[in-house]
Amino acid sequence: MSRRVAVLGSTGSIGCQALEVIEKSPELDLHSIVCGSSRDKLEKQTDRYSPAYAMCASSGDVEEDEILLKAMDGADIVLNAIVGSAGLKASLIAQEMSLPLALANKESLVVGSDLLKEHLSSGLVIPVDSEHSTIFRCIQGEARKVRRITLTASGGSLRDTPLNLINDAPLKMVLAHPTWEMGGRITVDSASMVNKAFEVLEARALFPGIPVDVVIHRSSIVHSFIESADGAWKALIGLPDMKIPIAWALLYPDLPTFAVASENPLDWGDLSFQPMEKRRYPAFYSVLAAGDLGGTAPAAANAADEIAIKAFLKNELPFGAIATVIDEVLNLTPVEPVEDFAHIIHVDVTARKNARKAVSRICSQL
Ligand code: NDP
Repeated sequence: MSRRVAVLGSTGSIGCQALEVIEKSPELDLHSIVCGSSRDKLEKQTDRYSPAYAMCASSGDVEEDEILLKAMDGADIVLNAIVGSAGLKASLIAQEMSLPLALANKESLVVGSDLLKEHLSSGLVIPVDSEHSTIFRCIQGEARKVRRITLTASGGSLRDTPLNLINDAPLKMVLAHPTWEMGGRITVDSASMVNKAFEVLEARALFPGIPVDVVIHRSSIVHSFIESADGAWKALIGLPDMKIPIAWALLYPDLPTFAVASENPLDWGDLSFQPMEKRRYPAFYSVLAAGDLGGTAPAAANAADEIAIKAFLKNELPFGAIATVIDEVLNLTPVEPVEDFAHIIHVDVTARKNARKAVSRICSQL
């Protein structure tokens, strides 16, 4: 029997690619689709793919929790491709319903890994992020102890921009990612490497106890590595294509029976690696520090980043000030253990308020 998939965030970059994968795969059926507010796009998807249930979370007629519950009711697996901390609620509902969770929404683990422990330890969280999908696959069947995880990073759109021009990098330049085509927030987060810092925290939650490093790998062909205790390295290699980790997560523990991609090693070019340049990516280190503090700090860092990016995307805030906003909010956030979802929401709301104040102050000084 086919596996029925609930696609949350169906109108986004990951969501649209997931619908293509499901259409191609005889083992998968589309059960439901949910988006934020792109009503027209959702209607088009409903006409094309005929899910049993389709809804905009911001419809106003129905509570968001109820929409998520309905979308997951009757599904065999949930793909959480919602952007931002709004995705945590969906992950928690999947946990309550004991449904396997194909997780693209990295914020669920950055902000709420403490609340998702049960699902993580039951092996019901299958990563979709390409780096974590790679690590997950490399660890499968690995008898040797894994000594280290090394995440690869393209370096983002500003990797070659002279340091003195980064602060005022224009929007168009920041949004031109060199190797991946993705949604707006994650593209800006790639330029600042906040995305990579989130991925480090995500990796720590998914693969506890294994140290995580980052190297710059410009072509995004090697999708991360593991190093075993005997010094041997394992990686997954291929042109950047999110349909591969999406198909893998949706079908796990089975494997795709169709070729998601077809490629030639001669197209891969030079596989070179460099260390990260600390001065180029200050926000990476701020978010990593929040991860080291743990508890409520990553939730505050994420909220601050979301607000700063919104202001940057509206051309209000300079790119370089994203790190300043994160730092200011972290300085104002008491670090406490996460108690429950309400606690995270409280931290998130407070951090957003503080971030808006920081944005206004910075903008008024320009
Ligand atoms: P997009 O911005 O392209 O899409 C986000 C999706 O979330 C849209 O469908 C949006 O709906 C929906 N959404 C927003 N708010 C809500 C809400 N409250 N309830 C339900 N749906 C909502 O993002 P991406 O697809 O790029 O990324 C999604 C997640 O996957 C992010 O966490 C990202 O970090 C992660 N990821 C993405 C990768 C990529 O290649 N894009 C790679 C690895 C991870 P609407 O269109 O109506 O606003």
